[in-house]
Amino acid sequence: MGRSLQVGDKVVLERQHLQQLLDVLSKRGYRILGPTVRDQAIVYDEVRSLEDLPVGWTDEQNAGTYRLKKRADNALFGYVVGPHSWKKFLLQPDLRLWQAKSDETGLKTVESKEETLRSAFIGVRSCELHAMAVQDKIFMAGEYVDQFYKSRRENLFVVAANCVQAGGTCFCTSMKTGPKASFGFDLTMTEVINAGRHYFMAEAGTEIGVAVLGEVTHREASEEEKAVADGAVDTCSRQMGRTLSTAGIKELLYRNYENPRWEDAASRCLTCGNCTMVCPTCFCTTVEDYTDLSGQLAERRRRMDVCFTMDFSYIHGGSIRYSPKARYRQWMTHKLATWIDQFGVSGCVGCGRCITWCPVAIDITEEARAIRESELSHKSAT
Ligand code: SF4
Ligand code: SF4
Repeated sequence: MGRSLQVGDKVVLERQHLQQLLDVLSKRGYRILGPTVRDQAIVYDEVRSLEDLPVGWTDEQNAGTYRLKKRADNALFGYVVGPHSWKKFLLQPDLRLWQAKSDETGLKTVESKEETLRSAFIGVRSCELHAMAVQDKIFMAGEYVDQFYKSRRENLFVVAANCVQAGGTCFCTSMKTGPKASFGFDLTMTEVINAGRHYFMAEAGTEIGVAVLGEVTHREASEEEKAVADGAVDTCSRQMGRTLSTAGIKELLYRNYENPRWEDAASRCLTCGNCTMVCPTCFCTTVEDYTDLSGQLAERRRRMDVCFTMDFSYIHGGSIRYSPKARYRQWMTHKLATWIDQFGVSGCVGCGRCITWCPVAIDITEEARAIRESELSHKSAT
């Protein structure tokens, strides 16, 4: 390149140079977290080399169905999303808030302090960037800032991977959250496997991204290479497995608290909470206190919680959502309607995980469609 690399410049990294990116991040002190194959699924965990990534694997997804399959090539990011989301690193599922110890000198309380962890997320999808932005609002933008979350978020380097293939349960185009990453990354890459070539179209989104990219072997992208990469993402946007009409969805759900479809969904729902656990935006936690048998040690822990349990809505005298209908209705209405009033954005980014990982194949897009259609058919009958 004639001039120095800048934010927004598109450059090509050849497949054989990608390991350098991991090495550069590692040397800069980042713990590298990315996709890897475990227990017949693609999950997020620590990765050290490109070989730890899901090389040559893809995933087939549909309602209640997830299966890994071998690809005909050596793609590194040739899958969609698995059951994990990045929230497991930013919002620890189990966190000690404080500990109290009693001894002959009295009672001492020690608050937990977040150790500064520098992490690099590799292969973050656009819908996941939107989900992280939603959680940023919840934990960092309001009056009460979660210091644990903030510390991890501020020490994060994000490498996004634009999607070039959509899954059977994806609907990010409906939610306007993908498939191309448009914000929230330090680096973004589009993997291209075309005409016997395998390369990554890379772009820095921040100054630190520029610095990291500058340490990796790269070259200026040709117009043709840029067009091929853009074309792959465009094709993906036309391959969504699901769609969701978002027009007036908040008002639609508010008008339909008593729609019979909620009973129908509840008759199938096991209230297992899988949908909330896999959802990248769900953030509910509970607080539990423990003491040891000696009576000298007590601690308070924050744990992930799900709104499908009776305990979740327990107030003096009992649970206010005692039926599966009430619990499913609150979850879906929160995702697609009340969340908008609460945080100004939808609680759903269209990743499709809740559809894939529901053991009885309940599909949020189908439920929303059924409610909309029942209203339309009621109108046309009157
Ligand atoms: S909708 Fe599916 S995943 Fe969610 S609680 Fe019901 S059965 Fe479980
Ligand atoms: S509600 Fe379902 S599709 Fe929407 S973000 Fe959560 S898991 Fe993904």
